[in-house]
Amino acid sequence: MSQYDYLVVGSGLFGAVFAHEAALKGKKVKVIEKRGHIAGNIYTKEVQGIQVHEYGAHIFHTSDKEIWDYVNQFADFNRYTNSPIANYKGEIYNLPFNMNTFNKLWGVVTPEEAQAKIAEQRAVLGGKKPENLEEQAISLVGTDIYEKLIRDYTQKQWGKPCTELPAFIIRRLPVRLTYDNNYFNDTYQGIPIGGYTQIIEKMLEHPNIDVQVNTDFFAAKKNYLAAFPKIIFTGMIDQFFDYQLGELEYRSLRFETEILEKDNYQGNAVVNYTDSETAYTRIIEHKHFEFGNQKDTIITKEFSKTWQRGDEPYYPLNNDRNNHLYDNYKALAEKEAQVIFGGRLGQYRYYDMHQVIAAALQCARKELG
Ligand code: FAD
Ligand code: UDP
Repeated sequence: MSQYDYLVVGSGLFGAVFAHEAALKGKKVKVIEKRGHIAGNIYTKEVQGIQVHEYGAHIFHTSDKEIWDYVNQFADFNRYTNSPIANYKGEIYNLPFNMNTFNKLWGVVTPEEAQAKIAEQRAVLGGKKPENLEEQAISLVGTDIYEKLIRDYTQKQWGKPCTELPAFIIRRLPVRLTYDNNYFNDTYQGIPIGGYTQIIEKMLEHPNIDVQVNTDFFAAKKNYLAAFPKIIFTGMIDQFFDYQLGELEYRSLRFETEILEKDNYQGNAVVNYTDSETAYTRIIEHKHFEFGNQKDTIITKEFSKTWQRGDEPYYPLNNDRNNHLYDNYKALAEKEAQVIFGGRLGQYRYYDMHQVIAAALQCARKELG
């Protein structure tokens, strides 16, 4: 094994970008992946001509031209614009929160009317600076939207009440006083034509890179540490340190996918169910990401669940308790000169894809020059 310069643990976006950059610099890289396929959570699989997002809806968006050009080397992107809708007990609302949402909810027509309504509802906070997700949401959009579109969806998604969650999570969503249903504010957005997996395949397709799937780092951690001069680790940072300071919290997911003998199930790629009675958080209908006209359709219901050892850790839960614990793990990581920790799990950050690419490129530049 000593012929390798790097061991990359995890074939998701972070690991693949690093491996690609290292190979271009003449380094020899071995990538190990515990799942039976490459690409981590952006993995897509073609079923009946439809690209199925196996680990949840993935829409690429960025305002950084360098990142957009980088990812476009590996795929052509379509013009898809994410405009999810919310279904609250059969009532349909546009997302993100914008004039269409305000009009449907309150009958207001002008931005001034909407602003006045939000200001009136925000008054319950008594001018207090928002300190948690509930207060942040009410401050941004008022109590009606909070109660119909945010409170129960968030509780389902994170397994905690909004009062116990950090405000930044809701600030991911734009609030607009225009009739614009685009979920993102970014300059560039789209879905790779033919799916995401090809991006990772092309990144890893290099004579200097060897890939081995179905291989868990923890099955032979000591041997890997002995055999490789440097390791890029994109798994869970607390697991790397054998949870010695305690467990970080994650959210896991369960997906139920069905093929339906109809051409159009819900008329949109993403529908969020924002009530508390519906067990799942959202349904995605994959063909709409690529404007597909197949005769059948494929849908996936997404259920959120508490992470337990052995589950896939899809989301870090970045509240104060966990961020503090992560800082302590990070201090241990900094003493581990042989290992670089990267990605959503290695850095315990609620990263989107463009941020993971940026972080991996930055890491590669620092490491490889
Ligand atoms: P991962 O993709 O998790 O890759 C890590 C890899 O390491 C995995 O393949 C894992 O199996 C492997 N691994 C872990 N431990 C070990 C081990 N011990 N041994 C060997 N291999 C190991 N981002 C967007 O920009 N837009 C979106 O619309 C979007 N939607 C999302 C929806 C959902 C439901 C989720 C969960 C995420 C979404 N994201 C989205 C975020 C996006 O998935 C991540 O930013 C990105 O995939 C993270 O890449 P990564 O390499 O850090 O992690
Ligand atoms: N959110 C909500 N209602 C919605 C959509 C989102 O309350 O209909 C909140 C919820 O707290 C969620 C957060 O906004 O966790 C961020 O949403 P995003 O769509 O960015 O989440 P992701 O796609 O990463 O799960």
